[in-house]
Amino acid sequence: MIQYDFSGRTAVVTGGAKGIGLGIARRLAGAGAAVAVWDIDPEPLRRDAAGKGIEAIFSVDVTEPASVEQAVQNTFAQLGVINNAGIAGPTLPTWHYPLYEWDRVVAADLTSVFLCCRAVVPVMLEQSYGRIVNLASVAGKEGNANACAYSAAKAGVIALTKSLGKELAESGIIVNCVAPAMVQTDLLGEMTPEYIAGVTAKIPMGRFGTVEENAEMVAWLCSDACSFSTGAVFDVTGGRATY
Ligand code: NAD
Repeated sequence: MIQYDFSGRTAVVTGGAKGIGLGIARRLAGAGAAVAVWDIDPEPLRRDAAGKGIEAIFSVDVTEPASVEQAVQNTFAQLGVINNAGIAGPTLPTWHYPLYEWDRVVAADLTSVFLCCRAVVPVMLEQSYGRIVNLASVAGKEGNANACAYSAAKAGVIALTKSLGKELAESGIIVNCVAPAMVQTDLLGEMTPEYIAGVTAKIPMGRFGTVEENAEMVAWLCSDACSFSTGAVFDVTGGRATY
């Protein structure tokens, strides 16, 4: 494992109570960062936080502007913000997809990223330093069948990352996104077995990615070793992504 030194820096991981986000929080904390988790359901992590090195756990709904603004006041974002919180939504063809589910997925997976970026960038601008990593998905590049809202929201995260990266290119703040393929987390519980089998079959390496592989990519994107990449998409897809 590559050694980073994030001591003296703060990292916010949204959706960090479990899954990929928890893996990212542990990786950054292990490298010395003071990590704050913002999660809508933080209780399981609070009950089992011992030994994980996480400094602060806040109850935050990243789809609610007031909740995000309050969390910013409670957290000093010096290193970076990892916009990881998200949901999958139902597995349905577009013409059967309910509007309320579309709205729920777009709010959780795209509007949330906009709200968190909007809230933390002024803090980072004051410091002329920052790292923002948004969790997109290969679905946002390719458009997965029977996942229209998720795919559209993740495509939006990619475009938002590119816009913000350009806006901040000369500020000392870099903004990138990660596009994972399948990782075994509770997120998969929202998908049908047929859907999971279909998208897994598209991975040339023939296996799921791991939480640790995604956390390692995020750690590099948070480090000073990542210095000339912004507004970019970093695939962790076992060869699935083709552009
Ligand atoms: P997960 O379901 O294990 O964890 C998601 C976390 O986000 C949970 O702790 C949940 O409480 C939190 N969350 C959800 N809505 C929230 C809200 N409104 N406010 C605050 N917290 C909220 O999911 P995961 O697999 O770890 O996914 C993490 C990210 O990675 C997501 O953005 C997901 O779309 C992306 N991703 C996952 C996969 C995969 O196969 N698991 C693949 C590609 C991309």
